[in-house]
Amino acid sequence: MELFNTKTRKVEEFKPLKQQEVKVYYCGPTVYNFAHIGNLRTYVFCDLVVKSLKFLGYNVKTVMNITDVDDKTIRDSQAAGETLKEYTEKYTKHFLEDIEKIWITQADEVVPVTGLIPEMVRMIQTMLNRKNAYLAEDGSIYFDVKSFKKYGRLAHLDMKGMKESVRVDNDEYEKDNAADFVLWKSWKESDGENFWNETFTVNGEEVVLKGRPGWHIECSACNMKHFGAQIDIHMWGCDLVFPHHQNEVAQTEACTRKEFAKYWLHSGHLTVDGKKMAKSANNFYTIADLEKKYSNIEQELLFRAIRLSFMNGKYSDSVDFSFDKIEANINTLNKVDESVKNLSRSINNGAKSVSGISRDFRNEMQVVVSEYMARLEDDFNMPEAIAEFHGFVKFVNTWIADKTFSVEEEMALMDMYETFNTVLGIVNFDIIEADEEIPADILELLEQRNAAKAEKDFDTADTLRDALSAQGYKIVDSRDGSYVEKV
Ligand code: AMP
Ligand code: ZN
Repeated sequence: MELFNTKTRKVEEFKPLKQQEVKVYYCGPTVYNFAHIGNLRTYVFCDLVVKSLKFLGYNVKTVMNITDVDDKTIRDSQAAGETLKEYTEKYTKHFLEDIEKIWITQADEVVPVTGLIPEMVRMIQTMLNRKNAYLAEDGSIYFDVKSFKKYGRLAHLDMKGMKESVRVDNDEYEKDNAADFVLWKSWKESDGENFWNETFTVNGEEVVLKGRPGWHIECSACNMKHFGAQIDIHMWGCDLVFPHHQNEVAQTEACTRKEFAKYWLHSGHLTVDGKKMAKSANNFYTIADLEKKYSNIEQELLFRAIRLSFMNGKYSDSVDFSFDKIEANINTLNKVDESVKNLSRSINNGAKSVSGISRDFRNEMQVVVSEYMARLEDDFNMPEAIAEFHGFVKFVNTWIADKTFSVEEEMALMDMYETFNTVLGIVNFDIIEADEEIPADILELLEQRNAAKAEKDFDTADTLRDALSAQGYKIVDSRDGSYVEKV
């Protein structure tokens, strides 16, 4: 397995710290509003990485934080007249509902960071003890960037020109403003009721500091609590390499003196007409917006089309979003559904001239699976993995039409669909059941029509066909007999 590591800017062979368990962390949402689909593209990327690793046989454990205290959550909860807890819980719920819709599996641990204050305080205290952090006049504690020799390596910063004792207390800032960053933010009036009184020991004296954590320490503490000093993979969108991930490295390694994450993976953005989708650019859509726009489409089909639109590009590149793409994906997935239904019908129709699984068939399937795995092992090459999948759909359609397979082989083909889908998540097997739920009275009419046809009573057969059609069912005549389909 090979992957591109942001830290080295190289494609590297993936060697987990321990073979048994791969520790994977990704930064979670700041729950101050609904997620837009740009945010969700990044979660689909994380989901594909995790599912690919599992599919390739790794035992993966995942942790994600929920940022439920920061400038934005405080600002917007106050504007809404709600407590921070009420407000962030509401948007956490919306977020978890949205990711479920597009088949993203929740992390094993989803951790709201307000539950991690003791862990954060402990880490900050260690940094104070080691002189990697200092208390400033304003009652905030800052990380001393100059004290950490490796600062800037992950983000490939040139630190030579950095001035001494320049500080930032914003959580987000540009590379040009690299400076000592805040670990514990002293209380300001605008924070209202949202603060903690925590005791720190500074130069041998205990001080109680009224304030709240900075954003970066949240992820360091979350990792420390759930994984310990080291993890295998840390990932998220490319915009977080600096300052957030760089600062996570500094904090954790200052405390542990061990390499924090072995591999760093970063995904590109979702763009609209080449411009990053963002709330500030007002070019964003939420899942609810798309549900409304496509209210005439089955929602689960729409969700799969949304998911697919994020996957058809190299994860590290930008992917452009458009309604045309969503519609093209809906068409593509309709064809996939048709293939799955045809296969299911053919299995249910039973009697075939051949039985068992032939050696050629077995060999062919092994080649398909190993080609697919090779694409995933190639730095999660989704466009090529999806191309393998479409090749498989074509293979199934061609040969099913020719009635080449035994029932056992057809069942193996259905298993192959499931195999592809453990990572891709774009096939919905529920459609098979829906397709098979034909009411008894409709089946009765079909039987009467088939009997009339067999007796060459074409007038009755046509009348019964019309009666079925009036009830929304179409008769499909195939070589293996006739069946009805809901129109
Ligand atoms: P925001 O809601 O803008 O604070 O974004 C939160 C996170 O979502 C960012 O750190 C990004 O990594 C990710 N994100 C935001 N916009 C996009 C986008 N257009 N494409 C991909 N990821 C995005
Ligand atoms: Zn983080």
